[in-house]
Amino acid sequence: MKRIAIIGGGASGIVAAIQAAQMLADRGKTAEVVLLERMPRIGKKILATGNGRCNLTNSDINSAHYRTGDVRSLESALQGFGAQEILDYFKRLGLWCAEREGGRIYPLSNQASSVMDVLLAALDRQGVKVICNWQAEKISRRGDKFLIQPAAGQPLSAERVIIAAGGHAAPTFGTDGAGFALAKMLGHSVSAFYPALVPLKTAGELTKGLKGIRAMGSASLWAGGSHIAQQEGEIQFAEYGLSGIPIMQLSNVAGTLPGKKLTIKLDLVPQMEQAAVMSEIRCRVKMSPSESLETLLNGTVHKRLGYAAMKAAGLAPLSRENRSLSLQEQEKLATALKEMCFPITGTLGWAQAQSTGGGVPLSEVNPRTMESKKAPGLFLSGELLDAVGECGGFNLHWAWATGVRAGMAAANNL
Ligand SMILES: Cc1cc2nc3c(=O)[nH]c(=O)nc-3n(C[C@H](O)[C@H](O)[C@H](O)COP(=O)(O)OP(=O)(O)OC[C@H]3O[C@@H](n4cnc5c(N)ncnc54)[C@H](O)[C@@H]3O)c2cc1C
Repeated sequence: MKRIAIIGGGASGIVAAIQAAQMLADRGKTAEVVLLERMPRIGKKILATGNGRCNLTNSDINSAHYRTGDVRSLESALQGFGAQEILDYFKRLGLWCAEREGGRIYPLSNQASSVMDVLLAALDRQGVKVICNWQAEKISRRGDKFLIQPAAGQPLSAERVIIAAGGHAAPTFGTDGAGFALAKMLGHSVSAFYPALVPLKTAGELTKGLKGIRAMGSASLWAGGSHIAQQEGEIQFAEYGLSGIPIMQLSNVAGTLPGKKLTIKLDLVPQMEQAAVMSEIRCRVKMSPSESLETLLNGTVHKRLGYAAMKAAGLAPLSRENRSLSLQEQEKLATALKEMCFPITGTLGWAQAQSTGGGVPLSEVNPRTMESKKAPGLFLSGELLDAVGECGGFNLHWAWATGVRAGMAAANNL
């Protein structure tokens, strides 16, 4: 019997397997669909997504939310696979969903396990053979078949193979870049890849004193003197540097600028123009000239952030009276609140990253079928490919969309 083998039982591989089996049944073809997973269970990462709630897609799917070296191919792959199509797909599997803030779509149950429940049921219904603890180590072409060699045990041959082994992020879920190595064995290249959706490390003493603070604000990424990108939301301060959704979003861009001198500038009062902040400071100095700087920003930003702004503006010691502040110093304080600078020294590692930037170039696959242009009969899908989305359901969306396409096409041309 002919066989379609899918390497990787994550989001993309699971839907690829379901789709391939469904397609075979619809066409009245008989072939075995085998889903190979190195971990003891499939879908472990899915259960951890969205803090256990699984933010499975977003109502605003478009290329602006992704970074890739080939926007055209990405758009082509997503065409006809927007949020509605993915919602319809999951509805057919029995999953009810609901849209929340920022267009984020979750299962109505708010449980990632609901997503796994319907996926496992569909795999079972479609007769997909799931083999766990099976780590694909080598792959080669043998005539019109592929031979997949596991780390231990007998090799497996298949007429069609889908590599859906993910990227390098979050290796505790089984993803350590092995998929890249497998794709290379069949002639693919892999563009420089980097941890994405990951906290940023900063230099200097400033962040250490801010550990544990969460503040709403706007974060801008600068490379030398050029403004690169901006994100708003809750910024989290940690001993190593900065985190929170706006920072994680910016990390997707920061990763594409290796060797550049990067800085994050935080605007801690985005709702006010610098002139308004300045006039507020001037007013406070006038109202309480004999009080110390320690109380000058009371009632404004988080107290420790206020002190950090004073430190950044060079106003020490805080025992100084407000009246001692020159206009220039007041201006510096306003600037520190609007543009608190944090030099970036790098990102945290793969263990803390939620996704992988870079990967197999989209130009090496047909974006409508995900079939490899290097090895016909081979298909690639998911995070393995050079496409990384923002937080908000975009990465799982990419995994589902490319997985469904790959599964359909693999069965179609068998
Ligand atoms: C903590 C966390 C939270 C996240 N939350 C969200 C979210 O809410 N929304 C969102 O859109 N995205 C989220 N993401 C990102 C999203 O989970 C991934 O982008 C997505 O799962 C990628 O799907 P994939 O199928 O390509 O790869 P993966 O889901 O990583 O699956 C790859 C699978 O392949 C297996 N594998 C690897 N190598 C081999 C091998 N050699 N042989 C056999 N099997 C192998 C792995 O064990 C794994 O099961 C989150 C990520 C993390 C880490």
